[in-house]
Amino acid sequence: MSADKGMNWDKIRDRLLQRRKASKDADARWWKPEQGRHKMRILPAWEGHDTFYLEFGMHYNIAEGEAPIECPKITKDLPCPICEFVRGLWRTGEEGDKELAKKVRAARRFASNIVMLDQPSQVRIWSYGPMVWDQLAELCVGDEGVVPIADADKGVDLTLIVTSRSTGDNVFPQYQVKPSFKATALEDKGVLDNLNDLTDMIVGRVKGYDEIRSILLGTGMSTEEEPKKGEVIVDDQEGDADGSEAIIKKARAAAQGSD
Ligand SMILES: [Zn+2]
Repeated sequence: MSADKGMNWDKIRDRLLQRRKASKDADARWWKPEQGRHKMRILPAWEGHDTFYLEFGMHYNIAEGEAPIECPKITKDLPCPICEFVRGLWRTGEEGDKELAKKVRAARRFASNIVMLDQPSQVRIWSYGPMVWDQLAELCVGDEGVVPIADADKGVDLTLIVTSRSTGDNVFPQYQVKPSFKATALEDKGVLDNLNDLTDMIVGRVKGYDEIRSILLGTGMSTEEEPKKGEVIVDDQEGDADGSEAIIKKARAAAQGSD
């Protein structure tokens, strides 16, 4: 017999399946817009929050196969090792560093609870960028006074039009939000009892400084010379990047190696 004798494989398999299902269910809540026209309604603020959206920051492209990392700076106004790293990259003034900085800098995001009008009883979560947020804010603060777009009784249905624009090799989605002229009540107010607590879901998921730092260092940007824990303390003030020099040097080498 092999060394796995006595191991409860059934239990592990069941647990894995359970975890897979849980993450699939969680993913299913997030609505992903495809090209076309989508009729939707933004739902009001969840308990303990005072706007229909949560603003947060994400760092993408940190490492192959690594999930995007919530930015503590934008999301919680706490120091973010990746933002500090990005600032250090900008400061070197080198082209390759700038390119890398653009790739890993924080993207500003917003999230709202919504319902699609063809599924009025199912709460989804929509994550969107500043261009969409600007349009929504414009709608709220119109020339005629405040329009409570997310109000359960006097809000408005929205049509999101998704198209794409290409510049050279890249294709960018374009979003246009059009409001209905008529204020209406939600079709199924039962959804108000099922609002996702986005504060808990997103702000609550932000990792600690040291954990993010070790993910950053674990991307091949540092190998044998990983600093001892707490050795490089970089605060969030100007002129802080000196301690990051070594990381930047390695990041640059790694970026050159991977291109
Ligand atoms: Zn950040």
